[in-house]
This record gives sequence, C-alpha cells and structure tokens, in this order.
Amino acid sequence: MAPKPPTRPMTLANMRENGVRWLIATCLDCKHSADVDADALAGEVYVPEAGRRMVCSKCEGRRIETRPAWHRAKRPGMGE
Ligand SMILES: [Zn+2]
Repeated sequence: MAPKPPTRPMTLANMRENGVRWLIATCLDCKHSADVDADALAGEVYVPEAGRRMVCSKCEGRRIETRPAWHRAKRPGMGE
C-alpha cells in the first residue's frame, strides 16, 4: 500500500499555471461571494491564505474562504 501524499494547498502560482487568474471569495458570515482578480497577489501565497487578506464588501467580515475560479480558466487548445 502506497502512503497517500500529503495534500498541500495549491499556491497562486500553481493556480496560474493551470490557467486560472481569479479566486472565488466567499464570506463565511453572510455567504456573499465574488470573483477576485488574484494578479496582485504573490505567487507563493496559498489559495486558502489569500482570503485572510480580504474583507467582505457586504458585512466587513474577515472570515473569507477562497478557492480557484476554475470556471474562468483559460484552457489552451480548447478554442474560444
Ligand atoms: Zn460578509
């Protein structure tokens, strides 16, 4: 039995390599969610950590969950 590799969170650089430059930020307090342009953030930041720098625009809550906005991914070779 092979041991499971530890699951490390994806960094913004990894995410960009996959063609995604946006994050979906969801406020855990009011459930407001928005797509956020991650270009301004450093590549070594982990995706879940990016949310810690954000403040909800609706309730000013700071419990923000972030995940890659896969629906915005630009996939090379898929045509547009
Ligand atoms: Zn909120």
